[in-house]
Amino acid sequence: MAAEIRTRFAPSPTGYMHIGNLRTALYEYLIARKLGGKFILRIEDTDQDRFIEGATEVIYNTLKMAGLKHDEGPDIGGSYGPYVQSERKNSYMEYARKLVGLGGAYYCFCSKERLTSLKEEYEKEGKAYRYDRCCIGLSKQEIDAKLAAGEPFVIRQKMPDTGSTSFDDAVYGTITVDNNELEDQVLIKSDGLPTYNFANVIDDHLMGITHVVRGNEYLSSTPKYNLLYQAFGWEIPTYVHVSTIIKPDGRKMSKRSGDPSFEDLVSLGYLIDAILNYVALLGWSPGTTQEIFSLEELEQAFDIHGISKSPAVFDTNKLNWMNGEYIRKMTPEAFHRIAAPFYSKELVASGIDTSRISRLLQLRTEVLSAIPGSIDFFAALPDYDIALYENKKMKTNPDNSLENLKAVLPVLQGIREWENNTIYSTLTEFAQSLGIKNSQVLWPIRTALSGKDVTPGGATELAEILGRDESLKRIIKGIEKLGGRL
Ligand code: GLU
Repeated sequence: MAAEIRTRFAPSPTGYMHIGNLRTALYEYLIARKLGGKFILRIEDTDQDRFIEGATEVIYNTLKMAGLKHDEGPDIGGSYGPYVQSERKNSYMEYARKLVGLGGAYYCFCSKERLTSLKEEYEKEGKAYRYDRCCIGLSKQEIDAKLAAGEPFVIRQKMPDTGSTSFDDAVYGTITVDNNELEDQVLIKSDGLPTYNFANVIDDHLMGITHVVRGNEYLSSTPKYNLLYQAFGWEIPTYVHVSTIIKPDGRKMSKRSGDPSFEDLVSLGYLIDAILNYVALLGWSPGTTQEIFSLEELEQAFDIHGISKSPAVFDTNKLNWMNGEYIRKMTPEAFHRIAAPFYSKELVASGIDTSRISRLLQLRTEVLSAIPGSIDFFAALPDYDIALYENKKMKTNPDNSLENLKAVLPVLQGIREWENNTIYSTLTEFAQSLGIKNSQVLWPIRTALSGKDVTPGGATELAEILGRDESLKRIIKGIEKLGGRL
């Protein structure tokens, strides 16, 4: 029977979810689902310098919000636990000692001072630092004596002196490094805790992980990992290294330089399904022109072969477009529910039926956080400049706007049924009767109603939502503003 497919998402609790991390989680999840395997969550907290309050919750919440349900993990258990690295800390030393016995590692008693001066020496000579293997030749007696005397030590990986190490990455193909380029890296630190480079190998093996998806910054470390697997006689997992995510200017996406994390995107008003869809396509192509994928569709369509090794460009415009597509697909009720939190207290108190505003917004909105700025005029007419009445394309200026607003006011006052279609046909008939363009009536009205040049609807749609009294009041205000007397 073929071994069960097991993938793992192994984030460090940093307090936020990087877009790159979300992509790794998504790909791990999709590989497991596509191949009928298990998706495991492991928290890698041994390399953390400081504890970050609530950081593991961020990880659970993100996976939950994104619908990436894990099959095993710290919060739900499983038969390969514990799933938090710090809770596994006692097992690493045991494996390190075993590796020493197998000839794949050795004790190193070099003091910090010695290593620092070694580094300085290398620096002076302009050479890249590498541990000089001072302790590799210690005899068993010397080692036992030092251990018995309680001398602090680390355990280092013993790299082969000759030959090369190769592995096949599912994305990058065959990678080969000369073994003599590999440093005898530390596996167990002087505090007894493992380095990430050691812990991840032990954990992946003990948890039966078959596919490791991670950023390509780990490509150069992978030969070292494989030498560990080989020394233990363990099976090497399939590696799937994924490309860097860059911004259109070519710089790497990073939280530190202000690029959004997953949580940031959610609070900016991106829909989780749209974010996931977009992130799936950051470096993966289905091989067709399809761009909109639900998570279920991705579970079917995803294929490791579609992952690209070229850097993936995080393009906000594309994400905005995709978010808009998801918004358009929602039911009006569902859209109103997610738009409502962006409506101000003043707007809600104004008595306006906000679901009608939502209906207009659903046709045009790309990002929910743009809502407040685009509809603030409903609650209160902003102070605006009469230059807004000037519009070449609409053939309007403050003078003819004043004239037309004055002329149309009684017509509007005479409308019985204050409703978009009726208002619209009344206004177009009015324009026709005067022999002017529709825009020469509609533009000034829209300006008077909103005080803005961009609005989520046309003049008559806004008028219907604002209601008769408020609309007439604003038009009169417009006439006054334009210097007209009634
Ligand atoms: N804990 C590592 C990180 O958050 C995970 C790397 C890996 O997937 O092995 O970067």
